[in-house]
Amino acid sequence: MLILDGKEVSKQIRASLVPRIESFKSKNGRAPHLAVVIVGEDPASQIYVRNKKKACESVGMTSTIHALRADITQNELTEMIETLNNDEGVDGILVQFPLPKHLSSHEVLQTVSPDKDADGLTYKSLGYFFAGKPLVSPCTPKGVMSILAHYKIKVEGLNAVVVGRSNIVGKPMATLLSEANATVTLCHSKTKDLVEFTRKADLVVVAAGKVHLLGKDDFKKDAIVIDVGIHGSGQGQKVQGDVRFSELQGWVKAATPVPGGVGPMTITTLLENTCLLAENRTGR
Ligand code: NAD
Repeated sequence: MLILDGKEVSKQIRASLVPRIESFKSKNGRAPHLAVVIVGEDPASQIYVRNKKKACESVGMTSTIHALRADITQNELTEMIETLNNDEGVDGILVQFPLPKHLSSHEVLQTVSPDKDADGLTYKSLGYFFAGKPLVSPCTPKGVMSILAHYKIKVEGLNAVVVGRSNIVGKPMATLLSEANATVTLCHSKTKDLVEFTRKADLVVVAAGKVHLLGKDDFKKDAIVIDVGIHGSGQGQKVQGDVRFSELQGWVKAATPVPGGVGPMTITTLLENTCLLAENRTGR
């Protein structure tokens, strides 16, 4: 079984960003800048945000964290995002989800300017994306496509199943695979007999958010299995995926591990997206 090593692919993509960032710096007198907005004290979100900042710095980009108190009002949050929209020195904006319950993600997604939307998840960005004219693509599915491209896995003509239909992962994943000429089936929690679909697929992307949902018996021999799930990412917890990876050896053709598969690719794609937005805004 070929292990699809997201850490290795990430390393190579990040290395390829360094000269682009250097060139941006020499033309603009500053590095591309990602502003990350976090509201409240959610421990997992704090870790994610710190990791994003570290990743930016590892390739020579600037990242600022805007930590807002949990009881901030919707208007204050909107004003904060608008300030970042209007700041010429900010190229990418990312609002860390989930937000505290009294705040509307819907409103936030309407507020971030699409030409600074590093996650590619605002409604305007998703509109461009689903119309086939992406400004940037949502990070996790684009990261999956980068892994497949790195390992020269030809997607065209494959029967692909995507498990999960969220706006962040499942739906854009299905779109990217379809654009790469796979024949795509999008499964979800109301799908009758999920394994009926996964067992017939050449390529399965699992993003259900259910720990160890699928294992060897649910895939056909020589399938390609991509596990997007992440569970237990808090301190001291064992990180696990939606797939029982240890069962796959000797059965499937290729698979991503968790950790070390799709996870690193998501952050790397965020860096790529920020770099691209910076280049687009400033004419490079
Ligand atoms: P979500 O909860 O928004 O969506 C889950 C989807 O899975 C839903 O569409 C639901 O219908 C479907 N689903 C749930 N149970 C199912 C079942 N038993 N059978 C079939 N479909 C089922 O989750 P999300 O934001 O799309 O994230 C999915 C998983 O991916 C989570 O574990 C999340 O932590 C992880 N994730 C990882 C990364 C990464 O960088 N690796 C990025 C984003 C999300």
